Amino acid sequence: MATTAQLRPAADPADDITESFGGAANVAHLRRVARDFRTDTITMPTDAQVAYAAQASRGDDVEGEDATTTALEERIARLAGKEAALLCLSATMCNALAVRSHLMQPPHSIIVDARAHTFKNEVGGAALFSQATSHALTPKNGLYLVREDIEPELQLGYDVHTAPTRLIMLEDTLNGVVVPTGEVERIAAMAGAHGIPLHVDGARVWNSAAALIARDGGVQDEAGLGAALAGILAPYATASLCLSKGLGAPLGSALVGDRKVIERARWFRKAFGGAWRQSGHVAAQADWALTHHFPRLAATHELARALADGLRAAGCTILAPVDTNMVFFDAAPLGLSFDRVKAALAALDEPITLGSNRLVVHHQTSPRAVADIVETIKALAASVSEEEAAKVRSQKPAELGYR
Ligand SMILES: *Cc1c(COP(=O)(O)O)cnc(C)c1O
Repeated sequence: MATTAQLRPAADPADDITESFGGAANVAHLRRVARDFRTDTITMPTDAQVAYAAQASRGDDVEGEDATTTALEERIARLAGKEAALLCLSATMCNALAVRSHLMQPPHSIIVDARAHTFKNEVGGAALFSQATSHALTPKNGLYLVREDIEPELQLGYDVHTAPTRLIMLEDTLNGVVVPTGEVERIAAMAGAHGIPLHVDGARVWNSAAALIARDGGVQDEAGLGAALAGILAPYATASLCLSKGLGAPLGSALVGDRKVIERARWFRKAFGGAWRQSGHVAAQADWALTHHFPRLAATHELARALADGLRAAGCTILAPVDTNMVFFDAAPLGLSFDRVKAALAALDEPITLGSNRLVVHHQTSPRAVADIVETIKALAASVSEEEAAKVRSQKPAELGYR
C-alpha cells in the first residue's frame, strides 16, 4: 500500500492548517474543532489519512478476505500482546461483545466502577445483550478500584439469592487517570483464584501507554508502544481499544484477547449486525492514525498539563491528577459557576466549546485556545460580584466523571 508523506505537526492547528482537509467547509470546521474541549472524538481525518485509505484492499471481511482489515487486526493484537483482535464499529460494541463473549448463562453479574463509561453511558448494554446485573462500586481512593474495593463485593458460590460475579470490568484511562498496573495485577490475582476474568474498557489506553513511555523516557514508536501496551494489558483477558478517540480514526475500535474469546466475539458481532463487508478503507484510516497520530498523544498530555497549571494558578481546583489529556476543573473557589465559564467562552470572538467541567485536549487542539480559557477565567474572576461568588461557593462541589 502506498503511503503519502507524514503530516508535518503544526505549531497551532488553528493558525497553521497546511492541508485542505477536503475543502473550505472542513477547514472552517477544523478551526472550531481546534477550540472544542468536549471530547477527543471530534478530530478530523486528514487528507493524507483519507488518501492512504484509497489504497486499501477491497475484499469482504465477513469472509475473512480483506487484507487491510486482517493486517490491522494482526498489528493491534501484536501491540497489545494478545493472540487476536477484532475490528468493530465502536468502543460500545467492543465492550458489549466482550461482556457477551465472557458470560454464558444467567444468573450472572459483573463488577464495574460506578463512574465507568460501560456503566453510565452504554445504554445498559450488559443488561440488554447479556442479561447481566451490574454491581457498580465507588473506589475508596476516589480515582480507581483496587483489590480491597472489589474483593468484599464478589458474589461467589451457589447462594440462591445472588447472581454470581463472572466478570470484572475496569476502565483505563479513567477520568484521564492512568490506572497503576500493579493494582490491576493484584485484582487479577485475586479474581483469577475464583476463575473470574478481567476486561478493560481501554478506549483511552493508548493515552496510558503514551504517558508510561514518556515517564520512562522511551520512544513513542511501534516498539515503545508495543512494550508499554502489552504490559498494561497483561492482567486483562480482553481489552477494547478505541481508534477514533485520541488516535483520530473516523470510526472503529478493536477488541483483543485470546483466539477463543475473539472467535466468540466475532460470532456475536455477526449476530449484533456488526459484521462488515469491504471494511478495508476503515481499517486503513485507523492504521494511519496508529502510525501518525499515536506519537502526538504525549504532546496532548503536555498541553493538558499546561491548561491545568494555568487554571490552578488562576485559582481553580483541579479534581484529578492530569496524567493524560483530560482536566477536570472547578472554578467555584473563584466564585464562578461552570455555566458562567461556559457562556463566557462561547461568547468569545473565536468561540470555545465546553461540554462539562471535563476539558479534553486532542491532537488538533489549539494551544492558543488553552491560553484563552485561562485568560477568560481570570477576567471573569476579576469582575464577579461578592453576592454571586458567595452563591456559587455555597453550591454542591463539582465532581469527577461523565455527566
Ligand atoms: C467514548 C467511550 C466509549 C464508547 O465509544 P464509542 O465508540 O462512542 O462507542 C467507551 N468507553 C469510554 C471510556 C469512552 O470514552
